[in-house]
Amino acid sequence: MNTMERNDIRGLTETELINVCQKIGLPKFRGRQLFQWIQQKAVQNWDEIKNIGKSDLEKIRERLFLEPLDKLKEYVSKDGTRKFLFRLADGQSIECVLMDYDRKNSRNRRTVCVSTQVGCPVGCAFCATGLGGWQRNLSAGEIVGQILDITHAMRREDPEFQVTNIVFMGMGEPLLNYDEVLKSIGLLNQEAGQNIGMRRMTISTSGVAPKIRQLAEDNPQVGLAVSLHSADNSKRNDLIPINRHYPLDELMKACQEYTEKTSRRITFEVALIAGQATMEDAEQLSELLQGQLAHVNLIPVNPVAETGMARPDIGEMKKFAQILERRGIPVSLREEKGTDINAACGQLRRQWESEEK
Ligand code: SF4
Repeated sequence: MNTMERNDIRGLTETELINVCQKIGLPKFRGRQLFQWIQQKAVQNWDEIKNIGKSDLEKIRERLFLEPLDKLKEYVSKDGTRKFLFRLADGQSIECVLMDYDRKNSRNRRTVCVSTQVGCPVGCAFCATGLGGWQRNLSAGEIVGQILDITHAMRREDPEFQVTNIVFMGMGEPLLNYDEVLKSIGLLNQEAGQNIGMRRMTISTSGVAPKIRQLAEDNPQVGLAVSLHSADNSKRNDLIPINRHYPLDELMKACQEYTEKTSRRITFEVALIAGQATMEDAEQLSELLQGQLAHVNLIPVNPVAETGMARPDIGEMKKFAQILERRGIPVSLREEKGTDINAACGQLRRQWESEEK
């Protein structure tokens, strides 16, 4: 079988691996061993697997492939943020970011921001990924692969390295690749694998209302962040074109249903853009979120040359936050990571592609 006909071992659950082993006449425990090597130890090739004999491995290799993502670039920011550009098997590239990494503090959070699609169909006005359009969805193996490859690379420097938190906030709209994203969450949560708690994973959506409802039904116990950016439909249409399909009324109804069904608080992300984040906007936002179990994350927009957008000065941002606070809305002003290494979504990929051309 060639690679196209075989399955990606990194996208298989422990049960699926056990099934594969049983089909080819291997005992159940081989499936368990394999799962641990792949998902917990993050091995990158078959030779690293030590307790499975060659003939058994040969049989497995006929059915499954193990191919790490090809690391094209890695940038390390002054604040410790690391940004990776990976090439996929079909030549497409994706970005992935490791944040909050502090080697001296082993109890520190190690958050990875993963991509879920190659490009993105949503086309937000402030986002470098959206500028290039959508190419395809990532498989669960490619999503999990980002965490495994970062883990493998970091363990060369720090053998104890372990990712603690995941945000589905990189390239792509995760809820438009719902099944593969949910499968990757299940894989990352498995005890014999990365064992990352459900509550330590967050899906960030631009506001795909029907999928927010589906997530409430499936209730995988992960966090939900909604990119709101504006409480005004016409402004939001310009910033996040998906608002034309799911306008604020519908989006907020879906969010309300989500909190009713799950009792979970939603984080609403608001990008602060110079000249656009007015105090009137802050008032409107407070109005919209009254009665909603919510937390607002204010994010100074990342400057991207093509969008021409800049962040407001810190005084303006603080005033914006104070208005929300006064109206009883819990709010935080997010510190941006890795601005010196183009850590905004899609910037590194665009830069690399233009260099290649
Ligand atoms: S911000 Fe997210 S949803 Fe919007 S275009 Fe970029 S990747 Fe897509």
